[in-house]
Amino acid sequence: MPLSRCQETAGPGGPVNDTPAGVGISGHGNTRAGTGRRPACHTPAVDLDLSGEHTLLRDTVRSYMEGEVAPVVDAHEREHRFPEAVVRSLGEMGWLGIPVPEAWGGAGMDTLAYAIAIEEIGRVWGSLGLIVAAHTSLGCGPILLAGTDEQKREFLVPLASGQVLGGYGLTEPGAGSDAGGIKTTARPADDAEGGWILDGGKRFITNAGQAGTYTVAARTGETPSGAPAISAFIVPAATPGFSVGRLEDKLGLHASATGELRFDGARIPAGNLLGELGGGFRTFLTILDGGRISIAALALGLAQAALDAAVPYVREREQFGRPIGTFQAVAFRIADMATEIEAARALVWRAAWLKDQGRDYGLAAAQAKLFASEVAARATDAALLVHGGYGYVDDYPVGRFLRDAKLTQIGEGTSEIQRLVIARRILGLRVS
Ligand SMILES: Cc1cc2nc3c(=O)[nH]c(=O)nc-3n(C[C@H](O)[C@H](O)[C@H](O)COP(=O)(O)OP(=O)(O)OC[C@H]3O[C@@H](n4cnc5c(N)ncnc54)[C@H](O)[C@@H]3O)c2cc1C
Repeated sequence: MPLSRCQETAGPGGPVNDTPAGVGISGHGNTRAGTGRRPACHTPAVDLDLSGEHTLLRDTVRSYMEGEVAPVVDAHEREHRFPEAVVRSLGEMGWLGIPVPEAWGGAGMDTLAYAIAIEEIGRVWGSLGLIVAAHTSLGCGPILLAGTDEQKREFLVPLASGQVLGGYGLTEPGAGSDAGGIKTTARPADDAEGGWILDGGKRFITNAGQAGTYTVAARTGETPSGAPAISAFIVPAATPGFSVGRLEDKLGLHASATGELRFDGARIPAGNLLGELGGGFRTFLTILDGGRISIAALALGLAQAALDAAVPYVREREQFGRPIGTFQAVAFRIADMATEIEAARALVWRAAWLKDQGRDYGLAAAQAKLFASEVAARATDAALLVHGGYGYVDDYPVGRFLRDAKLTQIGEGTSEIQRLVIARRILGLRVS
């Protein structure tokens, strides 16, 4: 059976064979408009063009990030200052709830749109990319997935419409990759006021101290088999007994806040249990599957930023009387970066597309996250090296890209954890 019966037709532009260096790089991504060759049937076997809506979103986010946001990045990063005003503007533009349905305060777009936006934000500012990804995937995500209509009205609408920032507390000092090992507890209050009492603490929480609403995992006893039962709770920042502890000094992503959450007899209403009692771990694992797509998109943005910085530099910088980009060793670094970035983008878009189709995307999301974050680490390293000594000082942003990219190999599951997820799925064995 033929793969496709469509006849290829040459469009007005004809086939595009040889994109000049720089054009395909900074103008990455295909669009429906202006493509040279179109299949002459209605349903092509594979369509790798972005829709008009996705293209418009990408161009709008790119133009806003380059025009309005880029000028304030360095000062915020240098001063380790959270970009409150920028985050507020993103909320006003509807970019803090891109994949959330309009009925719940979001933009009602899909996961692909969200991934494209995170790539474009991350390409200019890694810290902002992480703030938005954590807010959307981890702050809004659990309530969208497991919340009742009442919880969505009360908590999701303010989050997705950008009035309140969200955070997500799973990791603890003794429970990172082994998230099931958390020690924070929640018990029903035994007095007339009722509700849940939380005790314990979380570490490394993105948007700590900035978020108004956190979703938090806590132990609520044991399952019949003796394993810890983990449930999810919604904790407003104003909850008595809740506080934000130390904020971390990090290698990179200096404008994004990462810190401790403390629960000292924090009392929340009974209605803040999110999903079923004991069902929180499943909810969080599902949320991490989706969140990996956004961290992969952030990695992609950082890798693209590295390439965008390296290309003009190696064209202009001269040594031995010629541009260093004419030395094959340098040019081949660029060739490898460009190729790996395109491969990473294909994986990210595929994982997003599978999710949007309502299909199983867990394996694809882990593959996208693993590959894109490793590409980001390699590409940002290569960009720094082709800048020589200038890459090691603050004259160029490539050092920031390298520092920021490291997080994408760690957050929402390290590369080893992604390999575990992938290997288990491929082998069907309990690999550990
Ligand atoms: C900037 C930043 C933001 C973060 N934001 C959040 C957030 O918003 N919410 C949240 O809940 N968490 C957050 N995290 C936590 C993050 O998810 C964890 O750091 C991550 O899951 C790794 O856990 P860990 O740091 O305890 O490392 P560990 O789990 O101690 O891992 C250490 C090393 O051991 C390896 N390892 C562990 N287990 C295995 C295994 N079974 N097989 C092979 N190798 C293994 C790891 O791959 C890693 O190399 C954030 C972290 C950072 C740095």
